[in-house]
Amino acid sequence: MAKDYYEILGVDRTASQDEIKKAFRKLAHKYHPDKQGGDEKKFKEISEAYAVLSDEKKRQQYDMFGQAGTGAGGFDFSGFQNGGFDFSQFGGFGGQAGNVEFDLGDIFSEFFGGAGTSQNRRKKGSDIQIDLEISLKDAVFGSKEKIRYSHYVKCSECGGKGGSDFKKCDKCSGTGIIESLQKSFFGSFKTQKICPACEGEGEVPSKSCSKCSGIGVLRESEEIEIEIPPASQNQDIIKVPGKGEAIKNGEPGDLYIILHIKEEKNWSRQGQDLITEINIKLSESLLGAEKEIETLDGKNLKVKIPTLIKHKDILRIKGKGVPPRGYGRTGDLLIRVNIDLPKKLSRKQKALIEELKESGI
Ligand SMILES: [Zn+2]
Ligand SMILES: [Zn+2]
Repeated sequence: MAKDYYEILGVDRTASQDEIKKAFRKLAHKYHPDKQGGDEKKFKEISEAYAVLSDEKKRQQYDMFGQAGTGAGGFDFSGFQNGGFDFSQFGGFGGQAGNVEFDLGDIFSEFFGGAGTSQNRRKKGSDIQIDLEISLKDAVFGSKEKIRYSHYVKCSECGGKGGSDFKKCDKCSGTGIIESLQKSFFGSFKTQKICPACEGEGEVPSKSCSKCSGIGVLRESEEIEIEIPPASQNQDIIKVPGKGEAIKNGEPGDLYIILHIKEEKNWSRQGQDLITEINIKLSESLLGAEKEIETLDGKNLKVKIPTLIKHKDILRIKGKGVPPRGYGRTGDLLIRVNIDLPKKLSRKQKALIEELKESGI
């Protein structure tokens, strides 16, 4: 069931950003897992709700489309376990690189100590999405695919730092944060912004990297090999962590590969079963036969056609369908029988069939 973020935070749907912030702060204090009587599950829930409602754009999407519209629910809160909070998760799928505002910092610094050391707030590059067309055979039995794509990678010269000989940033006195006082209807409050001069790092290079001109990343074409697991479905997504866009002083985004399965002549798939066809002669449909077909993975398979089989009858061969994917069963191979009638009859054939008719069939 979809969660109601307003209900979780206990605020009205018309609540102002200040009210949302206040409500979250109160609940976060109450449920923080490091506190006595804290509740990790509840804390994650309110954090997720706050991540969406505190962002006007996500809040709007949530109001219109519900939880699905925000990309929430898939949040990875693993950052809590190792003491740091990964703000980049709030960027969500396709999150914007280098455009992250950390006014959450003042809230979280209470929990994680130290007014915003830069280690607590790793930036993350954008995710990349690639469409990949694969054959039905590769989808069913799995395969290895090579993909070449171009993306930003860390500059090898400066290691993604943009330069060398680092010195303390003058603009923020090395804190990485610039505070300012903002006035509003409710009074004035402090906001914290990441320092634009050092991008929150607290230090700036005296020497700019010549290879990347100080940007820290370079656009490169890279070839990677990915594994398509057996029993893959159309629109399945394969995630390759860290293979998205690299970013200066941060983690690279992830690569998402979306599978598109090509149509295969004479073959289709229904759940775990594979479906194909076989053409037989009229005499074979009456007398039965032994035929050979080529399976989807290119092997020869002997098929016994029983006597008196009807047009469009289906033969089921157990265990020759789609392999299981960690769970479930191996599917079957279903062979639909097509009886090919002759285009025309010779005089002799006609006579023989007349004889058959006489016999009563
Ligand atoms: Zn460089
Ligand atoms: Zn600075």
